[in-house]
Amino acid sequence: ADMLVVPETEVIRALFMKGIMTTVNQVLDIPTATMVAEEMGILVDTEAPEAEAKKVTEMLDAGDLENLQRRPPVVTIMGHVDHGKTTLLDSIRKTKVAQGEAGGITQHIGAYHVDVEHNGETQQVVFLDTPGHEAFTAMRARGARVTDIAILVVAADDGVRPQTIEAISHAKAAEVPIVVAINKVDKEEAQPDRVKQELTEYGLVAEEWGGDTIMVPVSALTGENLDTLLEMILLVSEVEDLYANPDRPAKGTVIEAHLDKAKGPVATLLIQNGTLRVGDILVAGSVFGKVRAMVDDRGKRVEEGKPSFAVEVLGLSDVPAAGDEFDVYLDEKEARAIASNRTDQQRLSRLQQAMSSRRVSLNTISSQAQEGDLKELNLILKADVQGSVEAILAALQQLPQKEVQVRVLLAAPGEITETDVDLAAASSAVIIGFNTTFASGARQAADQADVDVRDYTVIYALLDDIQGAMEGLLEPEL
Ligand code: GDP
Repeated sequence: ADMLVVPETEVIRALFMKGIMTTVNQVLDIPTATMVAEEMGILVDTEAPEAEAKKVTEMLDAGDLENLQRRPPVVTIMGHVDHGKTTLLDSIRKTKVAQGEAGGITQHIGAYHVDVEHNGETQQVVFLDTPGHEAFTAMRARGARVTDIAILVVAADDGVRPQTIEAISHAKAAEVPIVVAINKVDKEEAQPDRVKQELTEYGLVAEEWGGDTIMVPVSALTGENLDTLLEMILLVSEVEDLYANPDRPAKGTVIEAHLDKAKGPVATLLIQNGTLRVGDILVAGSVFGKVRAMVDDRGKRVEEGKPSFAVEVLGLSDVPAAGDEFDVYLDEKEARAIASNRTDQQRLSRLQQAMSSRRVSLNTISSQAQEGDLKELNLILKADVQGSVEAILAALQQLPQKEVQVRVLLAAPGEITETDVDLAAASSAVIIGFNTTFASGARQAADQADVDVRDYTVIYALLDDIQGAMEGLLEPEL
């Protein structure tokens, strides 16, 4: 039913019409499932689902378990504008990379790694160098999970600001651990304790205050304490079980791609499992490729790339999209077939998406609740003013939540933005607007991503609908 984008009851009904009695928990064999799908006008290729099955977000297969080795953490920097994200990225890169490397030439390929002394050995940390939660969530909305740890930068002279709160919501929704860098402590006006105090309101309590969030005062400008920050990242990564099997064909995610006039399609691939080698045959999204050459983040030609590292790859037949997954195949024919099959499938899934909604809406939630399948209702709340946000949050807390938990991923005053839509799409959430409007482009994005956006001008109507959905009583909206 999920793949056909129809309610389960429709599958059960189709079977019933053929004289087959089933319940929603029953497993169908392939011929029966094929019959149902074809009944609904969908051609079934039994090989395609297996190839796609390899594409699940979890990068490890059962076969990897005997060969697991630790891999470096992949880190994204987030925070409010002007709080120092770019400066921090640059200054970590400069202090850690330029040392001892010929001319200190660095190449921007979308990610870079640094060496850090930790527990008496040299370990690596990999940074994605597009800062901000927008890029992070746009990737996640496409199903890619590339970040292991988020660094939240908060300027000590400015404190928690709207995008700080957004970044916290986005990292939490993705269940990515947060390390806080309290930046600009070189400034006279810096008040690191005020930042810590403000962050407690968003569930981040510093370790030294009895919480479990690591907060490091730093200056991206002078370089103060950056070593400690890097060590803390490694400390957090130790408990995160970051493993990969270097001894298998590579797979991972496209983090950047463009068309170079001289070189053709160029893509930066983040290797998340296995080892990528020159000569490997791969499929990235629906693009076929044979790795002709690889360049690492230091601009060096390399023959292979290991888990958690990014390499720039030449030899693709076309430009894939950032967020696309890539897989290496041993057989060129198979890879070509999968690439062209994906192209067909993408067309089909776009068609399906146009025909019917895949994402959650209050209505689908209501029918899930009716069937007792609903455990959690994810909401994003945007309202005219902070007062409304607080009033609505307080009212939501009053709703009975024994069966279904309301999880508010983000609650803030302001317009509904494209980033909100991405967050909703990535987290199966419904957006609730209260006396607010769409920022430019957001409505279109919501339509495209099939995100349910509801706007209200009276609180009780809002609460009625949400309670109705939780209880499975919402009248379908036509
Ligand atoms: P972003 O928008 O978060 O990427 O912020 P930027 O990295 O562009 O920094 C914004 C401004 O803050 C720039 O003028 C930086 O020079 C300045 N800045 C960043 N970090 C520090 C710091 O640690 N101390 C001081 N005094 N200024 C900083």
